[in-house]
Amino acid sequence: ATPTAVMVGTGVGAQYGILIKGGKALETAHKTSAVLFDKTGTITTGKMAVTSHKILVSESEMADSKFLELVSIAETSSEHPIAKAIVQYCQYRLDNLTPPTTSNSNSNNNGRSEEIIFPTNKLKEMAKDFKAIPGRGLECIVDGCKVMIGNLSYINENGINQQDDHLSKQILELESNGATVVYVVVDDKLVGYVSVSDLPRQDSARAIELLHSIGIKCFMVTGDNCRTAKYIASRVGIPESNIFSQVAPKEKADKVKQLQDMGHTVCFVGDGINDSPALSQADVGVSIADTGTDIAIESSSIILLKNSLCDVYQSIHLSRIVFRRIR
Ligand code: ADP
Ligand code: MG
Repeated sequence: ATPTAVMVGTGVGAQYGILIKGGKALETAHKTSAVLFDKTGTITTGKMAVTSHKILVSESEMADSKFLELVSIAETSSEHPIAKAIVQYCQYRLDNLTPPTTSNSNSNNNGRSEEIIFPTNKLKEMAKDFKAIPGRGLECIVDGCKVMIGNLSYINENGINQQDDHLSKQILELESNGATVVYVVVDDKLVGYVSVSDLPRQDSARAIELLHSIGIKCFMVTGDNCRTAKYIASRVGIPESNIFSQVAPKEKADKVKQLQDMGHTVCFVGDGINDSPALSQADVGVSIADTGTDIAIESSSIILLKNSLCDVYQSIHLSRIVFRRIR
């Protein structure tokens, strides 16, 4: 392609809200044979909402209000999108209000129903020795009690077992319906769980259909468990064999490498701080403007301003026009 064609290509991209950082990115995009999508905040809206919570010990051991209080104090210091949803939910419940629900429509207030701002400064001070464990959960001290909140791998690693068959069945059911379940452990005892969910963006399924139509293979990677991952993948048309679940933040880039070693030119689409090594490792790194963290956007060569995964297809299509026709 001539320099003029490249300039016209990036110009057309910009007109459609596809920001391409330089000619090299536009060129590489036309060779893409596999697209690896991050799940949370990329395929899904990232606007999580708690769907339910359950206390697994007696009322005298842990009253509902005590549980909600403990959990919101612990999660206030976390930056994870799950934490924000949990804090909101607990505060609504403590005030006897109906918590917001999740939605993937673009119209109503960024996809979440009405949201009240709660003053959380005071809660934050009540948690001591806070530690975030990436891809796992958190740990802190509240009221002299050791609180751990996170996924199954996290609590298992800390020697907490959840062996009740009835409970396992409940959780399996929630996860198979797309929820992410996090466990609440106080002083090394499992006291309850919180179920959080997040829906695919409205046009994610269409985007994957478009990519498949031009012979591109689509994959998904997530730190989340396999059942939740499977549910979201099935909703958007990603084959079960193309899911990488329970992937530690540090290992997302290895999955990109794995696909490259299979001979693929890989486009990685992500949003989180966790995603930046994978975005750099990929032949083409793409991030979405709305959920994209600064570091993810910085590590990307293409930024989608309209927040639609269909623009991954558009980017490749544009690159194909510039680099295949005019040579
Ligand atoms: P993803 O790759 O899907 O964006 P992460 O790697 O960030 O997910 O997190 C993986 C899992 O770790 C979450 O699904 C959740 O179970 C657990 N987790 C992380 N942070 C928290 C937190 N603050 N509270 C509860 N669970 C958490
Ligand atoms: Mg993400």
